[in-house]
Amino acid sequence: MLIADLHIHSVYSDGKASPREIIRHALIRGINVISITDHDTFKGGLEGYRFSREIARNTSDTKILVVPGIELRSYSGDILVYCENDVELPREVGLLIDKAHENNCVVVPAHPFDTWRHGLGDVVYDYDGWDAIEVWNAHASRNANRRALEASRIMGKPGVANSDAHILEHVGSAYTYILIEDASSITEVLDALRKGLIKPHQGGLSLKDNIERVAWSIEYRARKILGD
Ligand SMILES: [Zn+2]
Repeated sequence: MLIADLHIHSVYSDGKASPREIIRHALIRGINVISITDHDTFKGGLEGYRFSREIARNTSDTKILVVPGIELRSYSGDILVYCENDVELPREVGLLIDKAHENNCVVVPAHPFDTWRHGLGDVVYDYDGWDAIEVWNAHASRNANRRALEASRIMGKPGVANSDAHILEHVGSAYTYILIEDASSITEVLDALRKGLIKPHQGGLSLKDNIERVAWSIEYRARKILGD
């Protein structure tokens, strides 16, 4: 069984840490699979993947696999897409799902009922092409997560739980068990997600985590304003 956190932001969007720092931190926390899913870019995920391959070549015991991903702002809301490579994706939901599947990617609506943070809301029910649904997001409200879990049950889709970490300390604050023994390739992880060989493990942010989260979002905005 593997532990996976499949929704993490790096410096390539609004995250604080580099892909290398995220990987180092995930290794320390005993996470086996991560996906770096920056807003509208695969850059962080691809850099992380290359770094994880480097680690695998140099050591035999410590292993971590990075699945390249993206949190794409579609016309209807945020969608997580996991791929083996950089894929140019359209922003119309139906076209996005088709293009992603043509390229063997896995498509998961991000925090669908957290409409404050661009969740799809009830639009999630309009499409049957989801491979899984993010049923637990450590940054979403309990009510939003409850409704996401309900959607996954109604639609018969597997559920994933993710941290949506923007700072290192939140990596792994929620995670998903992948029910396979070992993952040496991205394909194996994507297949397991498609087959629903996963089990979400809910987790949340402590008061301290939430204070750090707010502090970082203020700092990030200040950096942007100052062009830092
Ligand atoms: Zn996110």
